[in-house]
Amino acid sequence: MSEQADTLLKETFGYANFRGQQQSIIENAIQGNDALVLMPTGGGKSLCYQISALIREGMAIVVSPLIALMQDQVAALQQLGINAAFLNSTLSSEEQYHIFNTIRQRQLDILYIAPERLLQHNTLASFNETPLSLIAIDEAHCVSQWGHDFREDYLGLHILSKVFPDVPKMALTATADQRTRNEILNQLALHNPKVFVDSFDRPNIRYIVKEKTEARSQLLDFLSDHRGQSGIIYCMSRNKVDKTAAWLKEQKINALPYHAGMTKEQRANNQMRFIYETDLVMVATIAFGMGIDKPDVRFVAHLDLPKNIEAYYQETGRAGRDGAPAEAWMIYGLQDVVRISQMLQESTAAEEHKRVQHSKMNSILAWCEITTCRRKALLDYFGEQSEGCGNCDICLNPPKTWNATIEAQKFLSNIYRTRQRFGVAHLIDVLRGQITEKVTQFQHHHLSTFNIGADRNVKQWRSIARQLIAQG
Ligand code: ADP
Ligand code: ZN
Repeated sequence: MSEQADTLLKETFGYANFRGQQQSIIENAIQGNDALVLMPTGGGKSLCYQISALIREGMAIVVSPLIALMQDQVAALQQLGINAAFLNSTLSSEEQYHIFNTIRQRQLDILYIAPERLLQHNTLASFNETPLSLIAIDEAHCVSQWGHDFREDYLGLHILSKVFPDVPKMALTATADQRTRNEILNQLALHNPKVFVDSFDRPNIRYIVKEKTEARSQLLDFLSDHRGQSGIIYCMSRNKVDKTAAWLKEQKINALPYHAGMTKEQRANNQMRFIYETDLVMVATIAFGMGIDKPDVRFVAHLDLPKNIEAYYQETGRAGRDGAPAEAWMIYGLQDVVRISQMLQESTAAEEHKRVQHSKMNSILAWCEITTCRRKALLDYFGEQSEGCGNCDICLNPPKTWNATIEAQKFLSNIYRTRQRFGVAHLIDVLRGQITEKVTQFQHHHLSTFNIGADRNVKQWRSIARQLIAQG
């Protein structure tokens, strides 16, 4: 059996060796067992189910939520001479009819399908008459309400274990804190699953986080170390993407925008250029990156705080897939925290969901403010033990810490005396004894906390405020 896997690896896919645990994962599947596979982005998850599918009798079903990714993978497989197809809402009814015909004639090895499509009654019924080799559930964290990317359609997938009890199942994800992991196992009702956990460490990526002061000049400064290299710059809004890309062009940097508000053609064109040009900087919203497999991305920069650690990790994971040194660089400020909180408040999602997202935001904020190794903390978050890395801003340049108990007390007391309704800027004005319009308007110069913090400058107070928020 494993000889067959080896031959497929070398002759069909053209790779010399299996990576990490790929081989054991494939062996487990061809023996007919269930598995949960946790591998970082770029780790090589697809090969695990693709080779298993080709070795076992019958057709494999790959459940995937990402239509663009599905199409790319099918095209790549077809190029290798593998009989693969996809079923999703982009196909005409004729095209679908044709695919069902090929399935009936047992000519298909791998079928990619969107979850809502798979769960339709007639689809399930037709698969009942098809010998199935494997059911792979990609992006399996989408079943988790605790996860960062919950999708209603994924919840329905629990019936797969009932409808196809004898078909081995492989759930795969790049997101795997313990809670998400347990929810995947429960929701999908995997049978005696073997759990494969690859290391999430990406040792060639250097993590750097800075306070946002002068965003544009900070960015230019960063980019001056990366002239002629490919990279991605993430921004929160479409508007900011457009403006930043245009401004970078003025600075003679080969930059393009990418966001969901552009036409399909524009996006495809920019994406193509990103893949083929060696020095292109893509300024993008999070709409960009899923399924993009460019090995030599030298940096991923965040101009705004990502919503949570999972998203940050996935986005930065697009850097340095070739193993050569790469940088994950971020600037953030308190405005980001306000923005995310507001978005959550205005969202119509369930309260429970908002609460989870809020606590996830606090986790990433705490991570930004950390004074110990960033990599260690990231890996901790994903349940992996490690030592200080020597390749993050903190290891390379450890910040000096000092005991700020008194300052924390002053700050909190000031929040209380001003009745817990003012932003950080005003709170600092009061502490530092500034007579501003707002101070006089609210008579805050009469408070006992007025001018008790004049010995620290604004920057120091802001840092104290952020750390207090980060620590809850
Ligand atoms: P994931 O789905 O885990 O993010 P992919 O399956 O897209 O990752 O694989 C990432 C890249 O690694 C792809 O270019 C893939 O072809 C490549 N790859 C996977 N397995 C191997 C291997 N054993 N040897 C060399 N390259 C591999
Ligand atoms: Zn470190």
